[in-house]
Amino acid sequence: MNAPQSLRPPSVEQFMNAPGMAALQERYGRLSLRTIVRDYLKELGDAYRRAELLPQMLSHDILVNEVAARLERYQSPNLRRIFNLTGTVLHTNLGRALLPQEAIDAMLLAARYPINLEFDLATGQRGDRDSLVEQLVCELTGAEAATVVNNNAGAVLLALSALGAGREAVISRGELIEIGGSFRIPDIMAQAGVILREVGTTNRTHPHDYETAINEQTGLILRVHPSNYCIEGFTASVTSKHLASISHAHALPLLEDLGSGSLVDLSRWNLPREPLVQESLAAGADIVTFSGDKLLGGPQAGLIVGRRELIERIKAHPLKRALRVDKITLAALEAVLRLYQDPDRLDQRLTSLRLLTRPEAEINAQAQRLAPVVAQQLGSTWQVEALPVCGMIGSGAQPVARLPSAALCLRPQGARRERNSMLTALMAALRSLPIPVVGRLEDDALWLDLRQLDDEALFVQQLPALKVSTA
Ligand SMILES: *Cc1c(COP(=O)(O)O)cnc(C)c1O
Repeated sequence: MNAPQSLRPPSVEQFMNAPGMAALQERYGRLSLRTIVRDYLKELGDAYRRAELLPQMLSHDILVNEVAARLERYQSPNLRRIFNLTGTVLHTNLGRALLPQEAIDAMLLAARYPINLEFDLATGQRGDRDSLVEQLVCELTGAEAATVVNNNAGAVLLALSALGAGREAVISRGELIEIGGSFRIPDIMAQAGVILREVGTTNRTHPHDYETAINEQTGLILRVHPSNYCIEGFTASVTSKHLASISHAHALPLLEDLGSGSLVDLSRWNLPREPLVQESLAAGADIVTFSGDKLLGGPQAGLIVGRRELIERIKAHPLKRALRVDKITLAALEAVLRLYQDPDRLDQRLTSLRLLTRPEAEINAQAQRLAPVVAQQLGSTWQVEALPVCGMIGSGAQPVARLPSAALCLRPQGARRERNSMLTALMAALRSLPIPVVGRLEDDALWLDLRQLDDEALFVQQLPALKVSTA
């Protein structure tokens, strides 16, 4: 049965001219308004044809208010701030390293004003963007020369392409890893035009494995930090130093992909030790690549350091232009590298290191404070406890090492078969808060690791908005 004629939704043109719409157009812009109105009226038209339209759905105020609400949602940015309470500090899906204020200031400057990106202020001649950071990188790592690209995956691809294309690269079978996001060493080597020459076994590779693989087709030796996995038990690998002596005896370059890498010894702050870039170079690696936004604590970038003659070849390769970093990244990278010139205060000034070194007692005190507040909000169907937990660095740094921390453990109390849906509903509710909260699901409970909760007041302030739907 058809609805009466008077219940027909207005046409787009009619509605655009209705009172109140001019103000919406002024505020949100004509194109957005039109898109929202068209979609909304189409929905109403569908309801009309199904005879599901009620008179009150067409009241002028309701129509305009709904359009305003939809416009507000439509225009809110897709990129949102969140609370990362997963316990993984350098979380790839949540943006990895948080930048220090010095880097943020430098990025603003580079974004707002013309800068000497590729312009030599001393001579007035065209410059090279690498020169903004090259000297700093060399000073901090002991390298002869350095260049920067978009990320470390790009750095590995570029270095392999420039130094090994058409030739064999010798690598241990234990290092043929997948990092995630489909970055697999054998695939990258194929893309670079390098012929994979795997040696040894998954758990043990010896010097003579490399020696016997080297022939007149060999172009380089590659060593890759296993990053996100760990081989334990009956294992053997060849040190960078030994590998360098083998490479150099055959006049081959040794390339080392350190992944996270680090410029400071983290054990100084009781953190698990990661290999240092300067150690690899000192051991004889000719080229070392590492990420800007992992342990370095900077923006997404791939740093390539090593012997000048090889860096020159890398910089001359066409892929260098395709993978180049932008000015905002370079601005942030320079600011972060400058913080390393004062290593004694690094744990206070470098945001990621400050979070990694946050004292367990302080996190625990925060958990004790917050547990009753969250318990009150969730009500009697949830058990909320402050408990010790272990987080991790993330981004492939020390995959098995744990960071002692404290968390809120949120455990559903309902019947066994309801608990899963309660957890799902709670996680969804936390994600729909003004600042979404992301935790970690484990052992039939939701864990909110508080290591990275630096704005406790804001977290508490938005709790009353938490609406857990009970399906
Ligand atoms: C993380 C990682 C990469 C990729 O680095 P991105 O900066 O994420 O591109 C490459 N190699 C290793 C060993 C890594 O750990």
